[in-house]
Amino acid sequence: MAKEMGYYKDAGLNVTIREFKKPSDIKKVISGDIEFGISDFKLIKERLKGKKVVAIMPIFEVSPAALMSINPAIKSIKDMEGKTLCMGFKPSKYSSIGMILSQGGLDLTDIKIKKIDFDKNNILNQKCDIYSVYSTDQPYWAKKQNITYKLFRLSKNMNLDLYGDMLFTSEKFRFEDPKSIEKFKKASIKGWEYALSHRGKTIDVILNKYNTQNLTKEKLQFEAQEIKKLVSNFKFNREKVKKIKTLTMLLTKSKYDFDLVEFIFSPYIIYKEEVNFIKNHTIKTIDTGDWPPYVMNDDSGLRGIGVDIFKIIKNCLYLKSSTKIVEDWSRVLDTIKHKEADLTFSTTWSENKAKYAIFSEPYRTDKIAIATKSDISFIPNLDFLNNKTVAIAKNYTAYELVKTNYPKIKIKSVKNTQEAIKLVNEGEVFAAIDILPTLAYEISNLALLDVKINGLTKFDFKVSFMFRDDYKMLKEMFDRVINDLDEDKKKKILNNYIKVKVQEGYSKKFLNSIYIKSSIIITILVIVILVIFVQLIKILKLKKELQKIAYRDTLTEIYNRLKLKDELKKLIKLSQRHSLPLSLIYFDIDNFKKVNDNYGHDKGDYVLKTLSKVTMKNLRDTDIFGRWGGEEFIIILPHTNKKEAKNVAQKIRQKVESYNFDGLHITISLGVSTLRLNETMDEFINRADRRLLKAKSSGKNIVIDE
Ligand code: GH3
Ligand code: MG
Ligand code: MG
Repeated sequence: MAKEMGYYKDAGLNVTIREFKKPSDIKKVISGDIEFGISDFKLIKERLKGKKVVAIMPIFEVSPAALMSINPAIKSIKDMEGKTLCMGFKPSKYSSIGMILSQGGLDLTDIKIKKIDFDKNNILNQKCDIYSVYSTDQPYWAKKQNITYKLFRLSKNMNLDLYGDMLFTSEKFRFEDPKSIEKFKKASIKGWEYALSHRGKTIDVILNKYNTQNLTKEKLQFEAQEIKKLVSNFKFNREKVKKIKTLTMLLTKSKYDFDLVEFIFSPYIIYKEEVNFIKNHTIKTIDTGDWPPYVMNDDSGLRGIGVDIFKIIKNCLYLKSSTKIVEDWSRVLDTIKHKEADLTFSTTWSENKAKYAIFSEPYRTDKIAIATKSDISFIPNLDFLNNKTVAIAKNYTAYELVKTNYPKIKIKSVKNTQEAIKLVNEGEVFAAIDILPTLAYEISNLALLDVKINGLTKFDFKVSFMFRDDYKMLKEMFDRVINDLDEDKKKKILNNYIKVKVQEGYSKKFLNSIYIKSSIIITILVIVILVIFVQLIKILKLKKELQKIAYRDTLTEIYNRLKLKDELKKLIKLSQRHSLPLSLIYFDIDNFKKVNDNYGHDKGDYVLKTLSKVTMKNLRDTDIFGRWGGEEFIIILPHTNKKEAKNVAQKIRQKVESYNFDGLHITISLGVSTLRLNETMDEFINRADRRLLKAKSSGKNIVIDE
C-alpha cells in the first residue's frame, strides 16, 4: 500500500514491486540487480556465510511456516513419526520445517516426505497426513471444505520465535545511499500501517491491480486476518537477532560470526569506517556522577538526563561501553585530555576544554541561575554580586563564565553544587551559582528551607557530550542521533526525573516559604522553577482540563460548536487526501418551543440533556457528536458513505421517537450530507442544514438526504 498511497513517491523514491521469488532474491540484491528484498531468518545464515546482506527491519515477528495435520491421530509433533509429510520443495534441517519437527524431538528422517505440486485451490487431495503450509494461506482451503486440521508452528515457549520476514538490502547499497534506505523503510512502514488499518481498501487494490493468482475476496480477507497476527512492530529486538544467530551458528556449525552493527541498518551510521569503528571499540565513559539531574550515581545506579540520552544513542549506534566514576571533575577532564577515556555525559563547550576535547551538538539548553538565602531580595543580574563571595564548583562552566566576565565577584571554589548550596545555607557565602535544574534539584534534595533560587543570569548552558579530540567520527554519529531526537522524547526524559522527585516528596514547604515572602518578580521566577520541576505534570493536566472545558457544552456536556468545527476541519482534510467518505447529520428538535412554553425552561433543559445521552448511546466510538447551538445538533461520521449515514440518521430518529422523556414525546428532523470533492466546511454543513429545513417543511420527524 506504500506504493499505492504514494508514500514512496512522497519520499522521492521510484519503486517497482516484483513478485516474491525467495531463493533468487538474496543473490539479486547482493549483485545490485534490485535494491531491496525480503527474506526470513535464513538471511542470518547468509550473513554468517559471508554474504554482505544488511537487514533493515523485521516485517513478521514470527514465521508463517507451519505443519498442518489433517489426521486426527496426530495430537502432537511426536505423533508425526512415520507419517507422510507433503511439501512443495525439499526441506533442509535449517528450515522452519526442520525446526518445528525438532520441537517434538523428531528430525526429517523420522517422517516420510513426499514432494508435491501445490494445487492452489485444493492441496488436501494429496492424501497426506501432514502438509507444510503457510498459516496465512492453506488453512483457508481446509476451513472452506470443513476439514478439521491442527497447526504446528515455531513456538515461543521453545525459544524458537524466529522472524518470519525481514526487509533487507546489500552492504554496498547501505553505504552508497543510506538516506534512500531510511526513506524506503519509513514509507514501507507507513504503507503497512495503512494496510493494517484499512483492510477493505487494501484488498480492493490487490483484487484490481496485483491479483496475478486470481484470489477471491474471501480468501484475501482470511489472509489479511492471519497476517495481522504475524506483523511485527518493525523494530529489531537485538536479543532475538542474537538468539537466531547463535542458533544458526550451532546448526550450521559456522565458524564465522558478525557484529550486529554490521548486520542491522542504522540511519545514523553511514560509512563503512564507522561500522568498523563501532565494531572494534568499547566506548569508555567517565563522570563524577554527582551532577543531578544530568548525571547521578546513587542506589539506583548511574542515571540522569545525560545518561538517558547516552543510552538512546548507544542503542541507535550499537555501541559497547564501559563507565568509570571518579571523585572530581578535574580528574574527568584530565582523563579525557590524556585519551584514557573517550567521553563524559554532560558538559558545555568552553575555550579551555576545546583545546583538548570536542563536543557533540547540545541536547539541552538551560539557564545558569543564582541561589541565595531566602531573606535576600531578588537579584536581577550578576553585577549585584560584585564584591560578594559566591561558591561555584571548581572547573564547572559557571566558574569559568563568572571568572572571566565578572572579575569583581569573589569566587570560592568548591567540589560540587551540593557543597556550594550548603555553604549558602550556613551563611559562609552569599550565593551559589549553577544551572537552574541542578540548583533546584539540590535545594529540594537537601530540603533547605532557607535557600532559594533568587535570579537568573544571562548565560545559557548548552549541555553536550564531550569527547577526546581524536574521536570526531564518534562525535559525528552522536550528532546525527541528537539532531533526530524529538522534543517529546526529551521531555519524557526530563519527566522521569520530575516524577521521581514528586514521589520522594519534593519539599512543598520550601516552595511555599519562597512564595509567601517573594516579590512579584521572584514569584515569576518561582513559577518558572515550579513549572520545570514540580508543577509541570499538573499544569499539563490542567491544560488538558481547560481544553476539555473549552470543547464541551456546559448544559449537555457533549462537544460544542468549537470542537465540531475543529474536528470537521481535520476530517475534511483527511477525507480529501485519502479519498475516504465523510458524512454529517444536522438535526433539530421538532416544536421545541412548545416544550418550553408548556412545561417550562427546566423541562426544556432536561429534554436537551436526555436527548444528548440517547443520541450518544446509539453512536459508534469514532463518531463525533456535539451541540451546534440552541436545540440543533451535529453528528460527524468519519469513513461513512451516504447510505450508511442515512441509516444512522434513521436509527437516531427512531430511538428518539420511541424514548419516553419523562412523559413527553419528542421527535427530531434530520438532514444528511456526504462530503463532495473540493467542498468547503461551510458548504458541507449548509447542505445538511438545507435538507433539515426540507425535512421540517415536509412534515417533521423525518430524514432527508438529498
Ligand atoms: P421547529 O420544529 O420548526 O424546529 O420548531 P421549534 O419550536 O423547535 O423551533 P424554534 O427554532 O422556533 O425554537 C427553538 C427554541 O429552542 C427557542 C428557544 O427557547 C429554545 N432553546 C434554545 N436553547 C435552549 C436551551 O438551552 N434551553 C431551553 N430550555 N430551550 C432552549
Ligand atoms: Mg426546533
Ligand atoms: Mg431551531
